[in-house]
Amino acid sequence: MTEQERYRKAWRDRNIRFAVFLGGFVGFPFVFSLTLGWFVSANYPLFFRKNMHLLIDLYALFYFLFVVVLVTWWYRFRCPRCGEIFLWKSWTSLMKWPTACLHCRLPRNAIPYDH
Ligand SMILES: [Zn+2]
Repeated sequence: MTEQERYRKAWRDRNIRFAVFLGGFVGFPFVFSLTLGWFVSANYPLFFRKNMHLLIDLYALFYFLFVVVLVTWWYRFRCPRCGEIFLWKSWTSLMKWPTACLHCRLPRNAIPYDH
């Protein structure tokens, strides 16, 4: 595998991680709304009919955990040049939207030249 292929593979992995995170973050409430609509209209269990708030609480808890898992997976992407975590240097990294590696300044989606 050439250096360019290795970088392309790494950036594809990074873009997939971000797309999955964004899709899950935005898409999950829609999927939940649709399933809840079906659940309410169908013969859903009597327990939830009497305690609908529990269903909402469970959903909120599950959604929170789901998003934490997706964000962690996205953040664990490592820079193809220096091998450090691309988006993380310290807690202040969370306040930024970096377009380059926070360690070696490699721009996102950059491919090295073939000399
Ligand atoms: Zn780097």
